[in-house]
Amino acid sequence: MNKIIVTALLALMISAAHSQQTLFTHCSIYQHPDANSILCREGRIEIIGSNLSAKHAKTIDLQGGVVYPGFTDAHLHLVGLGWSLEVLNLVGTSSTDEILHMVATQVGSIEKSRWIQGRGWDQNDWEDTQYPTKEMLDSIAPQTPVYLRRIDGHAAWVNSKTIELAGITKSTQSPEGGKILRDNEGNPTGILIDNAMELVAPHIPISKQKDEQRQILKAVSLLNTLGITGVHDAGTSRKTIEILQSLIKDNLLPIRVYAMLNDTPQDAGYFLSAGIETKNQFLNIRSVKLYMDGALGSRGAALLQSYSDDPGNFGLTLADSSEIAQKVQQANAAGFQVGIHCIGDRANRIVLDIFEQRGERTLRNRIEHAQIIHKNDMLRFAKLGVLPSMQPTHCTSDMDWVDDRLGDDRLEEAYPWRSLIEAGSIIPGGSDAPVEFPNPLAGIHAAVTRQDKNKHPHTGWQPNECVSIDQAINMYTSWAAYASFEEDVKGKIAPGFYADFTVLDTSLETISPDEILNTNVLFTIVNGKVVYSSTL
Ligand SMILES: [Zn+2]
Repeated sequence: MNKIIVTALLALMISAAHSQQTLFTHCSIYQHPDANSILCREGRIEIIGSNLSAKHAKTIDLQGGVVYPGFTDAHLHLVGLGWSLEVLNLVGTSSTDEILHMVATQVGSIEKSRWIQGRGWDQNDWEDTQYPTKEMLDSIAPQTPVYLRRIDGHAAWVNSKTIELAGITKSTQSPEGGKILRDNEGNPTGILIDNAMELVAPHIPISKQKDEQRQILKAVSLLNTLGITGVHDAGTSRKTIEILQSLIKDNLLPIRVYAMLNDTPQDAGYFLSAGIETKNQFLNIRSVKLYMDGALGSRGAALLQSYSDDPGNFGLTLADSSEIAQKVQQANAAGFQVGIHCIGDRANRIVLDIFEQRGERTLRNRIEHAQIIHKNDMLRFAKLGVLPSMQPTHCTSDMDWVDDRLGDDRLEEAYPWRSLIEAGSIIPGGSDAPVEFPNPLAGIHAAVTRQDKNKHPHTGWQPNECVSIDQAINMYTSWAAYASFEEDVKGKIAPGFYADFTVLDTSLETISPDEILNTNVLFTIVNGKVVYSSTL
């Protein structure tokens, strides 16, 4: 090769390398008090410094914003969130009448074979806190199947048409781990709890690949506007993984996903034999999601002592503990982490026992929610290396009725973030969206104050369990990264880490906790690229 060509080639290579550099300027940086700029190359942080310049880099002015490590939501349901954006949103409804009105507007407009679906009702928010009935829905939707999921996803309100299509009759037994609520004569009332919802599930028309892809993209663009750069998807199907892989291939996925596989032969079963996949920087497959119990609101959480407002009812375990133990052993043997949904203190204890006896410590097994923990179990998380993966806004959404369920004596067991941290645990933080709205700032606010957005209650609910602002930020950054084995590339602003940033208009550590909810996301940056800007 002659000299001129070599030189030209070299120049080309250098400019290509430079063109992949991005310089973020005019900002302050979390935990880097002396820096005001970050130079990134090919999606990674290269240098953090003061007044950096780089001749060929693309420069982005961050308008005086404060740069945090990109926020990760360590427990949500990506497809469920996208789906929820397309069905009736019943969150915050104040009566059955309001819901019936919303359903009525759909009855006229929907195609004949379609179902009316919705999510988000909570009878605890209504004046009459009794469960609603199928007759209420029948009066406005006699022929169209209606399926309305409760806020926690652990109960459904259905009409007679749905009951008929599902083949549920007076003589249908409640399945194991579920309950068909009945009237005095034994007829189904229209409320299906936990596994009883599975009787209906096969009859609901499934969304096609393209519907699911659209829902994922809707969810991701919402998450980006909230400053989120990564999620742990708590129940991923193989179909979802294929959609994510094709989006990644086409450079269309502006978020990093940590998949926690659905516990089915076609999902977890398939990947357990294929082995973990950790090479793709946007999609990690090395975790399996299981369920131990239901939810507290629908009295499905498994408790050591019976429900305070339903004596004799200890809640539901959705699976046999020996079956769960076997699944833990199997998944861990294949190198997969296991995350198990446990709300009640009995579920938490059963699963801690299982992890103690059958789990592989280095795989950072998780308990998802870990809401009610008996004081004798508090130290066991850190001791066993089991991560309590928690959702701060569950506490502030539930606090008004938790004492009904648990009684005053057990309140200290509820959402014990600070006790767990003091016992040596780290807590990955999430929203459980679509159960809660996935705003990480709302999560950080709830973790720090244990108050709702109206500053209620005045001193915080069980305020001994409030965490510090830095701990709350860790929940959505470095602790979430540890829970997905990515603490060397995510959750911190340091050279070599992913250039994933959440840029806020205020520094969270310097404002009063009340102001956290007034903070705005200026930019969301993933892999060195701006994927959301408040000014665009
Ligand atoms: Zn969940």
